[in-house]
Amino acid sequence: MDIQKIKAAIRNVPDFPIPGIQFKDLTTVFKDAELLKELGDGLYDQFKGMGITKVVGIESRGFIMGPILATKLDAGFVTLRKPGKLPAETYCETYDKEYGTDTIEIHRDAIEEDDIVLIHDDLLATGGTMLAAQKLVERFNPKKVIISCIVELEFLEGRKLFDGTTPVETLIKF
Ligand code: AMP
Repeated sequence: MDIQKIKAAIRNVPDFPIPGIQFKDLTTVFKDAELLKELGDGLYDQFKGMGITKVVGIESRGFIMGPILATKLDAGFVTLRKPGKLPAETYCETYDKEYGTDTIEIHRDAIEEDDIVLIHDDLLATGGTMLAAQKLVERFNPKKVIISCIVELEFLEGRKLFDGTTPVETLIKF
């Protein structure tokens, strides 16, 4: 996988969704057939052979590569969704992120104790979203949890939230 090629294709949108945020827009990667395939293959190379049984994608940008990766890993796919979207009984977490606060929910029957879980999102900024996701997933007591983001904004030091608890794997750093 050519990381530099994928990195170069990410569009930076200044002041979106609020002033001061440099938004990393991955739609410019996803729309390119060759880059989309390379990204899927690159993520698979990162996580193959780890026995992952469930990929948990965070709404909504974790729903793009998450299922592609799950299929390659022969794993199931679980959705972490915004409030009120999941139809059955849920657990929920509210958290702060780079801009504003948010809540995510997971179905209470989504994960089993013998699962090895990969939580996937497009981008790690302050880590607030991923920490909430990790807390939700840990409620199920799975065998192991691994965190995956395509992009990491290193200056925000989001990975520090997971020091010594959960492996954090990212492909592209800004
Ligand atoms: P955080 O909770 O601060 O780590 O924010 C991560 C979540 O917000 C991810 O779901 C990202 O899609 C989104 N996000 C936060 N900051 C950015 C950014 N600068 N560019 C693109 N997406 C972002």
